[in-house]
Amino acid sequence: MWKQPIDSGSVPAGGETYDAIVVGGGPGGSAAAGYLAMEGKRVLLIEKETWPRDKICGDAVGGKSLSHVKELGVKETLESTPHFRVTGIVFSSPKGHNVRVALPEEDVQRLEAGYSLPRQQFDYLLFNQVQQLVRDAGGAVIQGGDVRDVLYNDGAGGEDPGKGSGAQRHASGIVVRIGGRNGEELTFHAPNVIGAAGYRCPVAKSMLEETYEEPMMDRDHYCAGYREYWRGVKGCEDNVGDIEIHFVDTVIPGYFWLFPVAEGVVNVGIGMVMSLLDKQSKKLKALQAEVIAEHPLFKDRFAEATMIPGTGKGWQLPFGSPRKKASKQPRRSASNGIFLVGDAASLVDPFSGEGVGNALVSGEMAAQHIMEGKSPEDYQEALWKALGPELTNSFRMQKMSRRAWLLNWFVGKASKKPAIQEMMTEMIASKEAQENLHSPWFMFKTLMF
Ligand SMILES: Cc1cc2nc3c(=O)[nH]c(=O)nc-3n(C[C@H](O)[C@H](O)[C@H](O)COP(=O)(O)OP(=O)(O)OC[C@H]3O[C@@H](n4cnc5c(N)ncnc54)[C@H](O)[C@@H]3O)c2cc1C
Repeated sequence: MWKQPIDSGSVPAGGETYDAIVVGGGPGGSAAAGYLAMEGKRVLLIEKETWPRDKICGDAVGGKSLSHVKELGVKETLESTPHFRVTGIVFSSPKGHNVRVALPEEDVQRLEAGYSLPRQQFDYLLFNQVQQLVRDAGGAVIQGGDVRDVLYNDGAGGEDPGKGSGAQRHASGIVVRIGGRNGEELTFHAPNVIGAAGYRCPVAKSMLEETYEEPMMDRDHYCAGYREYWRGVKGCEDNVGDIEIHFVDTVIPGYFWLFPVAEGVVNVGIGMVMSLLDKQSKKLKALQAEVIAEHPLFKDRFAEATMIPGTGKGWQLPFGSPRKKASKQPRRSASNGIFLVGDAASLVDPFSGEGVGNALVSGEMAAQHIMEGKSPEDYQEALWKALGPELTNSFRMQKMSRRAWLLNWFVGKASKKPAIQEMMTEMIASKEAQENLHSPWFMFKTLMF
């Protein structure tokens, strides 16, 4: 079904006004549009691609996402399609020690621990549901619409496109190009513009670079990721089990992953912070090929496996790690009339690389703020209050994971001590348990005794 086109209705006539315009139909944009439409708001949802479309990703959908998948009405459909049900995460150290962290048993029982399935399929199910919600509420949906510019009130009742600066100006609409390079440009208007178009979002670019003259990209906080799909990898045959994160010596300071996505297909990938990758002589694709062909932990597992042609692709992950000189953390994500969500707001977890959950969470938060008439500044504050502690914590873990000796020591200890494995399961389950990581005494006790 997710390989078929989605009929999202005809393109509305240019010049129309909506309650909100959502730019981007990935998880962040779909969540924002879906929650607004469920409250009866008239939304224009614009997506550059036409479904079915691929999204380069590890394809793991964590527990955080599943409450949103349920609320948006997609959980049952998702469960009736092929997917891999995640029950645990296996970590390995550069020395080759393994530790398995079980996902919380209660969540596994409720089928809410985590899934892994191709984003082509996951995003299709979400977008298909949301485009219907949007249209039922009187809104409209455009596929194949490339948003080129943001419009701002010029203070005299007119509108300007997104050039120039001035923190006081208020977004009032967008310009979208339909039908490719030489296609027609249409304008649409709304008091709220939600930027959800990923790491190169034109709304984020306009707000950050043109209005505030703040940088969008930061190589210390952006990660490069490379993904391939393989068939026939040993140990990845089932539709239920563990996903694997390997801190391989040739890949540190980054990691190599094996995430089965059901029916014998595995998402195999590698990621590294961009400023650290700049110091390496090899590209991610070459590093991955070397691990698969030569590493003692993997070469036998891949001996009879084959890569699905055309699936080797790279993309970037904008991390949510706190930045030293930023006026807002992790960077500015709102201003007059603009709300950024997901990758457009740079919210990917800097340790695990998960971004789908935070895209859905921020999509809902932006929708809530719009429905309650709260200001974008309130949104910015609420967003960092909700996600800041775990993003900061994950950044600490990411920095620790750059040291091979520390990984060897920690994974070595954890592989022998059930108490550490339980602590890690707890940390996945609850925010309070994550707080324990900040307590030197708790960590010392758990690691040493
Ligand atoms: C290699 C790799 C591995 C990853 N692994 C995982 C993982 O296992 N689990 C996880 O949770 N996260 C993972 N992530 C992160 C995750 O993919 C993102 O955080 C997530 O997709 C963010 O969702 P989003 O809706 O904000 O943006 P996106 O998913 O990027 O969606 C943005 C949408 O906007 C559209 N768009 C772009 N430009 C325009 C435009 N001009 N006009 C209109 N529409 C536009 C795009 O076509 C796209 O559909 C990974 C990322 C990478 C690169």
